[in-house]
Amino acid sequence: MDRLIVTLDGPAGSGKSSVARRLARRLGLEFLDTGAMYRGVTAMALARGIEVADEPYYVVELARNCPLRFDWDTDPPRLYVRDQDVTDRLRDPDVTAGVSDVAALSGVRDVLVREQQQIGRDHPRLVTEGRDQGSVVFPDADVKFYLDANATVRAQRRAAQLREAGRIADVAEIRRQITQRDRKDSTRKTAPLICPEDAERIDTSAMTLDEVLDELENRVKASMKPPMNADTHG
Ligand code: C5P
Repeated sequence: MDRLIVTLDGPAGSGKSSVARRLARRLGLEFLDTGAMYRGVTAMALARGIEVADEPYYVVELARNCPLRFDWDTDPPRLYVRDQDVTDRLRDPDVTAGVSDVAALSGVRDVLVREQQQIGRDHPRLVTEGRDQGSVVFPDADVKFYLDANATVRAQRRAAQLREAGRIADVAEIRRQITQRDRKDSTRKTAPLICPEDAERIDTSAMTLDEVLDELENRVKASMKPPMNADTHG
């Protein structure tokens, strides 16, 4: 089957993960959560007591020497470091608080971008979400989206997700955290969060999840139609 890479970039809490996972299911594609990879490296660094700001060299070494692996037989794919399933650790507050500093290290990005590109070769029918998927990792993707929403809506969505998972959530505090994370992600030197020129920008502030999914699904399907003047008679 032909390659079909769909990229979804955008700020924290824009609904990318939920949208990407469901869109992949609707289109019969696989799903890659690249934020999970940056979170995986962060969790490893925390487990070893590494201070990211003071010891960036060790974090890069860790990323190089502890390859991350997804289990593609689970939906969504679970993340392993060697034989250890780290999936349940990825959304913990200390990992979330540290991840943008880890993701700003160009040495870490070099490793993970290469791994993501290899995943793209091994799984060429893919919806992939993150901050740099359309701009850096898959510049030649077939369809690119940039999902945005205002910060209050994003904080409310994140809070609802946390409450659903049985955790306590304070919307004002979450808003402060995601705004801070956006600032770090958008101003870092290497692969900052941007909307690629050739991406469709969609503001989801006033849209339901199903509305966003319908819109994206239609756009991907439209992009797959042969051009009107194509010679269909062979
Ligand atoms: O998407 P998620 O919130 O899980 O991403 C966590 C963090 O990982 C982001 O705030 C960002 O710092 C980093 N990230 C990145 N590039 C990606 C995906 C995530 O820098 N492609």
